[in-house]
Amino acid sequence: MGINIVWFKRDLRIADHEALAEASRTGPVLPLYIFEPELWKEPDMSRRHLAFLKDCLRELNDSLQATGQKLIIKKGNAIDVLEKLHQHLDIEALWSHQETWNGWTYERDKMVKQWCHDRNIPWHEPSQNGVIRRLSGRDGWAAKWYGRMKKPVMPPPEALERIEERSESLPDANELGLEVDAFKELQKGGRKKALELLQNFLHERGEGYTQEMSSPVTAFQSCSRLSAHLAFGTISIREVSHACEHRRQEIKQMPRGMKGKWPSALRSFSGRLRWHCHFIQKLEDESRIEFENMHPAYDGLREHDFNEALFEAWKAGETGYPMVDACMRALRSTGWLNFRMRAMVMSFASYHLWLHWRSPALHLARLFTDYEPGIHYSQAQMQSGTTGINTIRIYNPVKQGFDHDPEGSFIRRWVPELRGMDHAFLHTPWLAKSQMGNYPMPVIDEKDGRKSAASKLYGLRKNNKTHQASAQKIVNKHGSRKSSLRRSVNRHAKKISQQEELPL
Ligand SMILES: Cc1cc2nc3c(=O)[nH]c(=O)nc-3n(C[C@H](O)[C@H](O)[C@H](O)COP(=O)(O)OP(=O)(O)OC[C@H]3O[C@@H](n4cnc5c(N)ncnc54)[C@H](O)[C@@H]3O)c2cc1C
Repeated sequence: MGINIVWFKRDLRIADHEALAEASRTGPVLPLYIFEPELWKEPDMSRRHLAFLKDCLRELNDSLQATGQKLIIKKGNAIDVLEKLHQHLDIEALWSHQETWNGWTYERDKMVKQWCHDRNIPWHEPSQNGVIRRLSGRDGWAAKWYGRMKKPVMPPPEALERIEERSESLPDANELGLEVDAFKELQKGGRKKALELLQNFLHERGEGYTQEMSSPVTAFQSCSRLSAHLAFGTISIREVSHACEHRRQEIKQMPRGMKGKWPSALRSFSGRLRWHCHFIQKLEDESRIEFENMHPAYDGLREHDFNEALFEAWKAGETGYPMVDACMRALRSTGWLNFRMRAMVMSFASYHLWLHWRSPALHLARLFTDYEPGIHYSQAQMQSGTTGINTIRIYNPVKQGFDHDPEGSFIRRWVPELRGMDHAFLHTPWLAKSQMGNYPMPVIDEKDGRKSAASKLYGLRKNNKTHQASAQKIVNKHGSRKSSLRRSVNRHAKKISQQEELPL
């Protein structure tokens, strides 16, 4: 009997792994990870991604070994690796989960498809989330998502037949030429951590989620912190969704006075699990949005005004706006930021500094351990006003500072130059020049920057005659269908809060 190759990609676990489960049912399995040095030359890849990946692969190997067959790691171009295996193995089929990742992996998959076709090797690609390949339209998408989440979680295979094959070691970051990275408190990868985070979020940390997710003072603790694990697939979105539903039922049984803030927390959280796939679906349906404006009317708007000095100040966390700088420095060190602060730093780069979104988005991609292209580029464009379908939201970093770091503890932690500043001036240090030390003056005037960006964006929306027609096409292609979403949420979860924010 031939061998089934199970190619692990962004699904580094053995539980709820349909490709592995199905392949092991049909015959012997060779679990394969292809480390592709060419991918690591792409501008969105970084040392912190490699560090997280290595943790994940180590644990994946441990769990596979417990079934009797270790993980086989091969280095090189996927086609070369598969071809070499093909020369000495009788390959029955290739199995892997569908991957919606960056442009490089998309092109690679097209070549692998051709390779399989030329050698008459079937390539089975089940989906591992709620993203639908070759989707004909967004109508009914939410119901399909709930349908997939309701399916049972697949148990890992109990035993795999042992196959002798040489495994290679992973290269280190220097060999790959990855830029030196100043991270200090990076999240650890691997499934054990994912399960731990899920449990302690759903039973302890998460109760104040709805109220505490927006402030960076509380969010590091109160958000689930599962994003990097979902991005690398150490846990599946269905496993998280099931655990959340289970907890919801548990809370439901509790007497009214004991439920605390859990019902609202779990409602907000489960909505976001759906958003995860909703955003990746956009990239699945239109891969060009990684590189190009979603709405063509914005082409040429910022491209020629890119100011390198402002970009460098933003990257270094030296814009003179304490909340922006604290966020950029925290991100550099930890690899994570909460949603609102991500939106604020992106909006500051795109609106106040008038930088085209692509370079800032790439910089953030390298810094986010949880970099997930489908979410990332859709969000980067949303926070830059280039989708043409979202309300233009320009975050004022001073207001965000007052609202979300009222005591100044986050700023003081990440911007040590301001530790001695009088509290009254912490969010506007330029008003107390004598206390600023070597902290920079603002690189731009916040109000002028905001007004200028708003007038350009609103002017374009108003004066471009085809704006509305193109925007409608984008809504048709990518927008969530709020009424059908409500219907399916009501059907599956009985209730949705009317206040719940729905993403477009
Ligand atoms: C400019 C920008 C870039 C972003 N880039 C990424 C990225 O590369 N990878 C990424 O996972 N998220 C990204 N996000 C979305 C969001 O900020 C993160 O998912 C969230 O902060 C991750 O932390 P958490 O796991 O504790 O999330 P929680 O709040 O605990 O949410 C649970 C999960 O829901 C999903 N989720 C939460 N918020 C969103 C959202 N707004 N859109 C889509 N899915 C969501 C994530 O998978 C997250 O892990 C980005 C947001 C912005 C504004």
